[in-house]
Amino acid sequence: MTEKLSPDISFDYLDENYKEIKENIAEAAIKTSKKPEDITLMAVTKTVQPVFINHIISLGVGLIGENKVQELLGKLEYLKTDNLDMHIIGHLQSNKVRKIIDVVSMIQSLDSISLAEEISKQAQKNSLTMKVLMEINIGREESKTGFSPEECIERAFQIAEMPGISLQGLMAVPPICDTENEVRKYFERMNTLYQDCKSKLSEKAQLTTLSMGMSSDYVPAIIEGANLVRVGSALFGARRY
Ligand SMILES: *Cc1c(COP(=O)(O)O)cnc(C)c1O
Repeated sequence: MTEKLSPDISFDYLDENYKEIKENIAEAAIKTSKKPEDITLMAVTKTVQPVFINHIISLGVGLIGENKVQELLGKLEYLKTDNLDMHIIGHLQSNKVRKIIDVVSMIQSLDSISLAEEISKQAQKNSLTMKVLMEINIGREESKTGFSPEECIERAFQIAEMPGISLQGLMAVPPICDTENEVRKYFERMNTLYQDCKSKLSEKAQLTTLSMGMSSDYVPAIIEGANLVRVGSALFGARRY
């Protein structure tokens, strides 16, 4: 699980990384009796310049994720967005919702009921339905926002009732782990929670998405049930802030 040192990013470097990641995803998918195309690869583009994001899009990536509203809006005019989906994956302040409500197709980092209420309000104002994932604080970390595993189902029912919101599934960033076995246990718990949520909510919402796994652990995440993986540094090299 070594972090790639970033050479000066070149298109060749991106081509190679993309090819390798796609191969790893395909292999992991087949191991779990899924098709490679059942797994969605999100390119996480925080700190990455539009020219490189556009290159990744030209290779076939159809989904990018950004953590910050300002950063996404700043890049927007330079991006080839014709066949592109954009998701927010970082903690979102309620007062920023209106700025991105008609820009992104999903908010993966829905971490409180008050944020859900604001999304519902802004979505209705714009006559649209916003897709969301509930972010679960699977490691119960003080430093992270998100719903606890215990309250997940109850809150999911509440969110599924809100107008202008379509609950699509769950998302998590597990704690930093020393071993792959350790992180797999968190992914396994997330999958159990997701399956439970999916069956209990089946009358209210059709859940489709379990978003987990990043550069260092997207393969074990897929093995444990993820169907959307969020990959940044393995694609673009280490981030320079
Ligand atoms: C930055 C980030 C990622 C990507 O992290 P890498 O380790 O660079 O792949 C994925 N998900 C979230 C929520 C992030 O903030």
